[in-house]
Amino acid sequence: MKKALLAIIIGSALAFSFAHAADAKKDAVASKVAGCCVKAAADSKACAHPCCVTAAKEKNNCTKCGGAGAIAAKK
Ligand SMILES: [Zn+2]
Ligand SMILES: [Zn+2]
Repeated sequence: MKKALLAIIIGSALAFSFAHAADAKKDAVASKVAGCCVKAAADSKACAHPCCVTAAKEKNNCTKCGGAGAIAAKK
């Protein structure tokens, strides 16, 4: 019986960590700045790519350049 109980505890702990990892992954995908825009931001500039400018107007990261989701709001 003890082994069965232990298996249940380990099983639920694993399920929890998997669910948590999936959530973290979802958050990462939710806001990913395109590489070209990261480089531009490092130079304190806005990315000059027309596709990125268009995406930025919609408050989105450029999906064409590898970005994803909405631009993280500045605080
Ligand atoms: Zn860009
Ligand atoms: Zn772009």
